[in-house]
Amino acid sequence: IYAGEALRHLTLDLTSIGEGTDIRASVTDEHGQSLFGGTVEPTAAQVRRSLSAADLPWQLNVTPSSTDASAVFPAERRNYLIAALAAIVLLVGLACYAMARGVLREAAAGQLQSDFVSAVSHEFRSPLTTLRQLTELLAEGRIHEESRRRRYFSVLQQETSRLHQLVEDLLDFGRMDAGRRHQYKFEPLDFSELVQEGIEEYQRQAGANGHNIEIHSDHSRLLVDADREALRRVVRNLLENAVKYSPEAKTVWVETGCERHAAILRVRDEGIGIPPEEKSRIFEKFVRGEAAKKACIPGTGIGLAMVKEIVKVHHGELDLSSEVGHGSTFSVRLPLS
Ligand code: ADP
Repeated sequence: IYAGEALRHLTLDLTSIGEGTDIRASVTDEHGQSLFGGTVEPTAAQVRRSLSAADLPWQLNVTPSSTDASAVFPAERRNYLIAALAAIVLLVGLACYAMARGVLREAAAGQLQSDFVSAVSHEFRSPLTTLRQLTELLAEGRIHEESRRRRYFSVLQQETSRLHQLVEDLLDFGRMDAGRRHQYKFEPLDFSELVQEGIEEYQRQAGANGHNIEIHSDHSRLLVDADREALRRVVRNLLENAVKYSPEAKTVWVETGCERHAAILRVRDEGIGIPPEEKSRIFEKFVRGEAAKKACIPGTGIGLAMVKEIVKVHHGELDLSSEVGHGSTFSVRLPLS
């Protein structure tokens, strides 16, 4: 029926079926009845041409001989598609993981900051309340006994210096955190003397009463290159923590000495201790231990971050050994000059 030029007019492009695929041809009449090649199920990969050029109302249908759709695609093309799909799934998975991590991190950082703000507010509130109440009493002239008046004035003095200390700590931390505390003044200093000064400074500040500080020093002269103010802060912070986190035990121990060409400071307490999973985290800024929060022990979570930074600037090492319920020992090791 169809030959030569007429067949070329059909322009049968079989690429959609797939090169090298066996094909099946059928001819149907105008009612869709099969005239040749049997009934063929219509598929997506089908080429249809009207045979009207030969004045026939019939249709020529060409389909892949296999009914399996996958046979339509050559093997390498299929593999390529599978690999591309796997890569897309992997990429989407990775992107989801990175996003979830980022969101969780941001949430944790936000939580730490809001904890810090509420801890600082709390630290300010109690001395301010005391100040307000006592000044009211004194201003209204309701305290007549001289001895009580003097006692109240001394409380006022203590609370004011506590507030002052808190503000100084926060400012110092802010400078350190912003990397602006570069004014360390290094000079050769006697380590034991420095520690002694730090202890005295701590004892002068408010809230230092009630604990016995036992000092062990081998009295040898240990010269270190250090910033006096910064190292006093290290001693003060470690002592403050040892006392604060030992509500039951009333003694804390401070030891200085020389080990392997380094000056050593150890501050030991028999307090609540620190669980292993918190040991490295508590040196990060704003991080407070769960036990400290549960026991409502006041604090802002910046003390150890400052200690860590100062020890690092002095090329020293900071170490912690602790057991929950038995106490903690913080050790600072500084190279001898
Ligand atoms: P703060 O004491 O203001 O909370 P720090 O940075 O000084 O902040 O300490 C961080 C956390 O480390 C504390 O909240 C506490 O959980 C824990 N910690 C520090 N020192 C001790 C200690 N001597 N004994 C038990 N826990 C401690």
